[in-house]
Amino acid sequence: MIPGGTSRLLFPSPSKLVSVTMANAPEIVLPPLAFKAAGNSDTQRDVNLARVLRSPGYPTLVLLMADAVTKWADRVVLDFTAQQVTVKYQVDGIWTDMPPMDRPTGDFMLATLKQLCNLDYLDRESRQEASITGQLDSFKYKFHIRCQGVPTGERVQIRVDLPRPQPAQLIEMGMREKAHERVRQMLKRGKGLLVSAALPGDGASMSWKGLRAAGDRFMSDFVTFEQKGAIEDDVINVGSVVYDSEEAFPQKFRELLLKEPDTIFFSQVRSPQIMRQIVESGLSSNRLMVVQIDARSAVEAIYRLQILGVTSEEIQQHLIGVVAHRSMRRLCVKCREPFEPDPNVLAKLGIPVGRVRQFYKQFDPAAYTTLDSKGNPIPPPVCPTCGGTGYFARVGLFEVLENDATLQTILKARRKYADAVQAWRAAGNPTFRDEGLALLALGVSSIEELQRVLKS
Ligand SMILES: [Zn+2]
Repeated sequence: MIPGGTSRLLFPSPSKLVSVTMANAPEIVLPPLAFKAAGNSDTQRDVNLARVLRSPGYPTLVLLMADAVTKWADRVVLDFTAQQVTVKYQVDGIWTDMPPMDRPTGDFMLATLKQLCNLDYLDRESRQEASITGQLDSFKYKFHIRCQGVPTGERVQIRVDLPRPQPAQLIEMGMREKAHERVRQMLKRGKGLLVSAALPGDGASMSWKGLRAAGDRFMSDFVTFEQKGAIEDDVINVGSVVYDSEEAFPQKFRELLLKEPDTIFFSQVRSPQIMRQIVESGLSSNRLMVVQIDARSAVEAIYRLQILGVTSEEIQQHLIGVVAHRSMRRLCVKCREPFEPDPNVLAKLGIPVGRVRQFYKQFDPAAYTTLDSKGNPIPPPVCPTCGGTGYFARVGLFEVLENDATLQTILKARRKYADAVQAWRAAGNPTFRDEGLALLALGVSSIEELQRVLKS
């Protein structure tokens, strides 16, 4: 019997209660996830918690949130439509569809969640936000909940602070020692244009943070310049200047230059007008301008700069280099499986036979599923490290491009993108593919994952 049975305490629509009352249902064993309720006073927090513990939506909420954190999801999105509630998890940057819920189950669960957060559960339209904490085994989690009515129903986004350390240094993210030294030397130059390139949502803020950490040792005084709301994650904003709009940029930038910082970091530059001011006012001030732009590779960043209005001559004169970043999921070392890949797949990836001694792949529960006496599948136990996803955390792939003779030749000859990449690689610069293959050889990730990363 579900705790609370047919409690009407939390729900606006008693007619829906019938459909989720499971009078003959077997008792559910819930994971030991203990929430702390939100509220303006101890009494209110106690009341909120007492109410949810006996509400019919509580078991669903506990099962959902425990499942999400066990799989290391840092985002959960619930879309309430007329027919059902779709559920999505984001784990290590990848969105996965989970089994949907029926509307009554989802409605009960959401009412419970809102009560736990001290929000108005009757309000299905306004934007409401709150944070709560929870503990499962020895791990503590913080959940940030945002609910918002949408034309099709209601959307609920939950961001989870996971209890695992985020790498702060480029080396911890997977940058090789040699590349790291090149980046440090570039930052040490102290003046010119340095570009940080990544795709939005692909750990762009992580590599950004790493670059700032690498520069920190040489630069006593640096300022971060970012457009309001452009940052995808909470990053450590040391001396951060926020501008509201493109129109507000020039004034803020002039004020900032008067303060004479050594280095200015510009996050997510997507406007040619802003780029022009960085080149004209910023670079003539003899300081280091580090600019983050969207690009698929280090070489592509050079073309993106030109699309943003930086001329080939300006690049040749001012560019120090580009640090490009991609994220690849690491195979879970507790459950990864050695296997022999199809030679055709290896040929496609350009891996010579024998180059990699042992390949690994993601654990496949289907291969270990047995049947009980009635023919029902019994899945194998879930890996406690990765929660059954087969992957655990991410590793960075990096491309480091310097403004050297190779780049100057590419720019002067006005090479096409594909030719430029080839010329750049021929000069001894490893690409994302080369870096990824090196990690496959070490068993860090899977062929499927590298293919996914290279395709994006
Ligand atoms: Zn695992």
